[in-house]
Amino acid sequence: MQTLTTPTTTLLPEVSRFLDSALLGGVVGGRDVTAADGASFDTLDPGTGERLATVTAMSAADVDRAVVAANEAFARSGWATMPVNERAVWLHRLADEVEKRKSIIGQIEALDAGKVEQQAQGDVQVFVDTMRYFNNLSQNVQRRSAVPVSGYEAWTTRQPWGACGFIVPWNFPLVLIGWNISPALAAGNTVVIKPAEDTPLSAIYLAQLAREIGFPDGVINVVTGYGETAGAALAGHPGLRRMSFTGSPEVGRLVAEACGRNLVPCKLELGGKGAAVVFDDVDIEDTANKLARAITFHSGQVCCDATRWLVQESIYERFVDASVAALQRTKVGYQLDAGTQMGPVVSAKQRERVLGYLERGRQEGAHTVLEGGVASVPGRGGFYLKPALLAGALGNVAARDEIFGPVAYLAPFKDESQAVELANCTDYGLANSVWSRDLTRASRVAEAMVAGNSWINAHNLFPLGVPYAGVNKSGMGGGVNSVETLFDYWRSQSMVRPLS
Ligand code: NAD
Repeated sequence: MQTLTTPTTTLLPEVSRFLDSALLGGVVGGRDVTAADGASFDTLDPGTGERLATVTAMSAADVDRAVVAANEAFARSGWATMPVNERAVWLHRLADEVEKRKSIIGQIEALDAGKVEQQAQGDVQVFVDTMRYFNNLSQNVQRRSAVPVSGYEAWTTRQPWGACGFIVPWNFPLVLIGWNISPALAAGNTVVIKPAEDTPLSAIYLAQLAREIGFPDGVINVVTGYGETAGAALAGHPGLRRMSFTGSPEVGRLVAEACGRNLVPCKLELGGKGAAVVFDDVDIEDTANKLARAITFHSGQVCCDATRWLVQESIYERFVDASVAALQRTKVGYQLDAGTQMGPVVSAKQRERVLGYLERGRQEGAHTVLEGGVASVPGRGGFYLKPALLAGALGNVAARDEIFGPVAYLAPFKDESQAVELANCTDYGLANSVWSRDLTRASRVAEAMVAGNSWINAHNLFPLGVPYAGVNKSGMGGGVNSVETLFDYWRSQSMVRPLS
């Protein structure tokens, strides 16, 4: 691992202006709103550990006002009933404006989440592309269908549900907002977004931008605050018609329970403990480089990462050496500095979590291949880590639990059937990859691994139109990014008339 020296950072003027507000509010019914009780919290720059902005901490009563505003907008703003091509103009305008401000929003996201700036700009583009994808799709879907039954005239229509709630985590704030709200808005629903308390800024900026370009008030609302208060209030609100939660399985359970009490349909996109199965016919250096890039991408805080590297025993030692070399070349630095490949993790708490798992993994007998631990970046007091590699039995806590940091766990396998068995010995089921020149074998293994997604000779692939979802402890309710996702945001209504 190498650390970079640090030049002084110059922020874009628009970013400085946004961050200079004394107190950033949520956006409710088109207005900046602060908590009635005046509560607030600071969001930090993970690369320095210093305060970036102070943000309002909403209570259940404040969240209630946002749900009321979203229902008002659904009933009265004309958003839900306007012709689909008219709604598309609004959504394309929003996507265009976000794209025009890619460097501004990218810098805000990079500062707030600790993301390498270029990667944060990539996230902004994902938001834009997702919004355009669902917007175009919504104009090409037949929402009214005749049902041929004897003795009746019957047909169905697809109608938007109403106010939809979205609770998102801190690792990909804008991407996940885009994946979630794009189909909901394109289908004619209104939305209330609760960003994570570690990364509320891009959501606030987005809602302010929607207001600036004249979006109908109350169509996009943002409530900021802590998970146990604002998040729990949104999850348990009976005025919602749908809920989508992205985050940990532990909180996902609480959200699903709260929605269940109100009979609100709830979609969960949760964590993972993905495997990469590496057969002995690969280019060792190239595959090790790609997996090292995957585990250091956003400092390993990626739900679908390959965190268990299962390597065929005949190339195991050579693969381990190539992986260590690749990880040691990773440049750790401040997220806005040129040349940085891996920035900080999001918070001191997250850094402690990763260090705790390294410690517990070793106590349970894991062998240290690359030590990892705290990294220091000259002049920056942020939450930096070195990449780490452990190896050993897959029952180890570091091989079982989602760590959410730059840590991978290595284990050898003998043959194809053992590889599949080891890949599947997990409660999670989000994403795995298989690496081999033999594409027939690779496809067979890809289909045999139990998860929502299997990638071949690559990791982390999200082409729009291909469903992305988790099974078992990784999620329920259908996933995101496909035609089916758009249909999730319409309810079906049947009309029937006797013919005699
Ligand atoms: P988290 O579950 O702690 O928090 C997620 C969101 O829930 C935050 O906005 C938080 O404020 C809110 N929250 C916390 N307590 C709540 C409560 N009691 N009621 C309602 N809301 C509450 O997760 P995190 O640490 O922010 O994110 C990391 C997790 O997210 C990892 O498990 C990761 O794998 C998962 N994730 C999954 C996907 C996916 O698409 N499957 C994508 C990204 C992240």
